[in-house]
Amino acid sequence: MITSKITPFKEKLKSPLLKQQITVLQINLGKRCNLACSHCHVDAGPKRTEELSPEICQYLVELIEKFPQIKIVDLTGGAPEMNYGFQELVEAARKNDKSVIVRSNLTIYFEQSFDYLPQYFVQNKVRVVASLPCYMADNVDKMRGNGVFDASIQALQWLNRLGYGTAPDLILDLVYNPLLPTTENFSLAPNQQSLESDYKRFLKNNFNIDFNNLFTITNLPVGRTKLHLERKKLYAPYLEFLEAHYNPDTVGNLMCRDEISIDYKGNIYDCDFNQMMNLPAKTKDGEALTVAKLLESGNLDVINEVQTAAYCYGCTAGSGSSCGGALL
Ligand code: SF4
Ligand code: SF4
Repeated sequence: MITSKITPFKEKLKSPLLKQQITVLQINLGKRCNLACSHCHVDAGPKRTEELSPEICQYLVELIEKFPQIKIVDLTGGAPEMNYGFQELVEAARKNDKSVIVRSNLTIYFEQSFDYLPQYFVQNKVRVVASLPCYMADNVDKMRGNGVFDASIQALQWLNRLGYGTAPDLILDLVYNPLLPTTENFSLAPNQQSLESDYKRFLKNNFNIDFNNLFTITNLPVGRTKLHLERKKLYAPYLEFLEAHYNPDTVGNLMCRDEISIDYKGNIYDCDFNQMMNLPAKTKDGEALTVAKLLESGNLDVINEVQTAAYCYGCTAGSGSSCGGALL
């Protein structure tokens, strides 16, 4: 339960959070993943089996083909590479001149029958956005599982050998998440630019790794992070902390303004967090949307206002946070 001390996010905003023209399609292909990280906000893991169906995948391909206003197709999961439709969506997007982002956990390339991925990414000029929540092995293994740091380093070196991080059209970005809090001594993500310099120096000196950008992402109190906070009785205090750092300057850059997020069943949300919390996007008439309905209407811009909740304070605290890192 959220305590009454927290101002409803809508009130904080003062005016409704309006949608802009949709240019980004973020697709969550399913919950299959080879890892089961403690901070996972989508509750993915090796035992999960939910994924795209051939029917929904076909609708998504049609959506990509039909709307030139879509500039970016952003594939996430789970490990998107493990879920049905991954290659179909990459190839449909590339054929239609969209940029493709794959949110990759890196370790997947070492699983049986996934070692084709790095070369496949090169062929399709896929932008790889990879989680490396810290450049210290212990911290990464604590969050993601034993051996994950070493496997991530090997995967980054593999991508580097293929030109990722140095060739202009092979972009490799890393993602930093703060450790989950265990006491009320909360902190926001460090300054993105200076942390990026630290990562670059450390990874170059120790492992000869190059990458393009570091994205700092705040832990939003959803999914496993929410459960963790509740277990530690830190859920309400963490929200209060985020609200205390609310920065109205971030609102203009929130990722939910120009993207739609689609789940493996074809339902539409304003962002991945709303997807995980089952808060669907609504049309001007208050109707929930599906990919089939969007195709039928022939119009992508049918959402007027973004649906918000208390966890939106995570995107608007300090320098802000999004799937593309800090907002300011
Ligand atoms: S955080 Fe990413 S890699 Fe970890 S379990 Fe979730 S989807 Fe998989
Ligand atoms: S969680 Fe963040 S991205 Fe999603 S609706 Fe709230 S502010 Fe927007």
